[in-house]
Amino acid sequence: MVMSSSQIALLRLLEIPAMLVRDQRVIYANPAAIALLGSHILDQDVRLAIRTPEAVNLLTSGEGGQIRVKGLSVAGSVWSLSAQQLDASTQLVTLDDQSIQASVARAHADFVANASHELRTPLAAVLGYVETLENPKAGEDPATRARFLSIIRKEALRMEALVEDLMSLSRIEANKHEAPNDPVELVALANASAGELRNKGEVNVQANTSKVIITGDRSQIAQVLRNLIDNGLKYGKPGGPVHVNIEATHTGWVSVTIRDEGDGIGPEHLPRLTERFYRVDTGRSRQAGGTGLGLSIVKHVVERHRGRFDISSRSGEGTTATIMLPVANSMSDH
Ligand code: ADP
Repeated sequence: MVMSSSQIALLRLLEIPAMLVRDQRVIYANPAAIALLGSHILDQDVRLAIRTPEAVNLLTSGEGGQIRVKGLSVAGSVWSLSAQQLDASTQLVTLDDQSIQASVARAHADFVANASHELRTPLAAVLGYVETLENPKAGEDPATRARFLSIIRKEALRMEALVEDLMSLSRIEANKHEAPNDPVELVALANASAGELRNKGEVNVQANTSKVIITGDRSQIAQVLRNLIDNGLKYGKPGGPVHVNIEATHTGWVSVTIRDEGDGIGPEHLPRLTERFYRVDTGRSRQAGGTGLGLSIVKHVVERHRGRFDISSRSGEGTTATIMLPVANSMSDH
């Protein structure tokens, strides 16, 4: 045996799957390897135990090395397989689960690609219209000039909104593990947020108490309220109304619901609304100046505040967004 019994005992304790392979036969597999690949691998040809072509090449090469293997446990899983030659005929094969790192890297790459695409579309429009205005013929007619300039402004504002939302998301990400600690009074804040948006339509605020204080990040909670009221105005009945209702309960929680009377959202979309850049109707969101990031920001802020967020809707019956937040302890209520 190439390994002593105490070395084998160590392999048994190892949390990652490990196998000893001699002349391409699995002569030992630790419990983690058996849990991953099944007990039938014992004494089996290693090419049957791990069948991917890259793994077979490495394990039959007679040389050690490291490769990535996909889909060993569940579809989409990624493993790092490493083979070390212990002597001419024996290899120690270990597997390390890299699925989480791989999915984080993939999500990050998708996010950067989506954000770049979202920025490129208005940027292309701005460059196109600037070029047209530089052409003396189009540039001279005042009506055409004014129309093109207003499109350029709209597209630039869209880019500005997107950059602001991207920066908000990254700030929220950066301090997500720090508990927020301002005393925030929700009734006044909801009235202020509603007031900022009344130029877009009717917003009513009701509360079952004159004051309710949470421990939070004031500007982030204000952003959540603005995003949800703004969505009610953008996608609800044109001109509103949007109803904001604050209810402090005896269980130590306060719920804030934001309800509109619009067309609602089909059930198939509800679970995906808080994904970055997910939109039910891309054209409508763009037309309304949406970035596709508003609900993702809401979700992250509410999570940072240890609260809950939910959207319920029925097609044709409007949409209700609900946030539940823990009320600050009674000490800070006085
Ligand atoms: P956007 O910037 O596009 O508004 P959000 O993240 O705020 O992005 O919302 C994602 C999508 O959810 C929107 O594009 C819209 O399709 C849908 N949505 C959000 N709120 C409502 C609502 N109150 N009524 C109907 N659809 C909504």
